[in-house]
Amino acid sequence: MKAVILAGGKGTRLSAVAHDLPKSLVPVAGKALIDYQLDWLAREGIGEVLLLTGYRSEQIEKHCGDGSRWGLRLRYLTEREPLGTAGALKAAEEFLSETFLVVYGDVMVDMDLRAMQRFHQTRREAGATLMVHPNDHPHDSDLIEFDKNFRITAFHGKPHDPERWYHNQVNAAVYVLEPRILKSLKAGKFADLGRDVFPSLVRSERFYAYPSAEYLKDMGSPERLLAVEADVRSGKVSRLHRRHPRPAIFLDRDGVICRHQDYLYDSADLDLFPEVGRALLKINRSDYLAILVTNQPVVARGLTDEVGVREIHKKMETLVGREGARFDAIYFCPHHPQKGFADERPEYKIDCECRKPKGGMLLEAARFFNVDLRRSFMIGDTWRDVGAGRAAGVKMCLGVEKAPGRVGEYDDYPPDRMFANVEQAVDYVMSLPATGE
Ligand SMILES: [Zn+2]
Repeated sequence: MKAVILAGGKGTRLSAVAHDLPKSLVPVAGKALIDYQLDWLAREGIGEVLLLTGYRSEQIEKHCGDGSRWGLRLRYLTEREPLGTAGALKAAEEFLSETFLVVYGDVMVDMDLRAMQRFHQTRREAGATLMVHPNDHPHDSDLIEFDKNFRITAFHGKPHDPERWYHNQVNAAVYVLEPRILKSLKAGKFADLGRDVFPSLVRSERFYAYPSAEYLKDMGSPERLLAVEADVRSGKVSRLHRRHPRPAIFLDRDGVICRHQDYLYDSADLDLFPEVGRALLKINRSDYLAILVTNQPVVARGLTDEVGVREIHKKMETLVGREGARFDAIYFCPHHPQKGFADERPEYKIDCECRKPKGGMLLEAARFFNVDLRRSFMIGDTWRDVGAGRAAGVKMCLGVEKAPGRVGEYDDYPPDRMFANVEQAVDYVMSLPATGE
């Protein structure tokens, strides 16, 4: 696969630290940003990189040369006037005849490109696959919505409607594209891929979202640059690469994240516990993934549909997002094994592999995100959570008491430890000595 780096940007917002450098040459912990990007592309098996340059192109060419330092073949294309990401890419059309990768020139990233490429190749008629992830400021980010098959259904550019709820999934500036996408771009016209082109193209082309928990941050401000430098120095940038198995904290929803109600099916009734944002922030700042796994038989019962369950999750993600906190992934089981209820939906009345106490949702998350289950934890309020955690082989299952009317619903599956609420359970996990891989 060929890669394209959109390196035309000027480090304007970084002027205090970048002087007159193009963004790609801004030093990060003593090395130019583009050096990290080329190191990464070479490690991931990319052979040829097309650098789309503009501002101070000659400095970038002098710095990178022919790419032999990285074992890469570099080619430069310099735009005479700034045409935005879409315009720049259109100008490179003649060099892009096969599936290719696009990376923005202002991001620090280290991710498994082979896994992303496999994901793209196995999606039906995929025209584009966009790397997405939740971030700590979804309210002022361009958000993406996708269905259970990862097909993108909507782009929500900022500013967002304060009356609506949104999933916290941000377009993260790494794309796998098919050459036919370039045909839809207009030559010589200024346009932005994420804002102007993709939102309308998604109606005629199949776009997919590739959720990743790996490291990707842009350096749009001096503060963000400092944060990225700290992450480079601590080894976090490479540590989050998919090849390193990561531990997760799996969280049940009702009774753990929000007040338990019999059959919550309307987002208006969601009652989030006040400590959830804080608990999630503690997980987010650690190397643990925060993964929600919840049984939602309300779908099988016909009380709502999968869209209705997602609406509840959008509200949850929006509310914790305002506190800078996030879930790395959300899994729910819409099934229920017993038939015989009024208004039930027979297609969901199956004995599935995902409903807890089976371990299906945890195992699926482990496969997708390369989770190390033996270093992971399950936090829940019933025997089903403990059963699912044990079935998946997690290190410990932690119980929370805060479930009015449901305390003691553990039967023959007592948790390893009990806590008053999810934050205390998370504090306990964080207090344990870190165990290596
Ligand atoms: Zn299920």
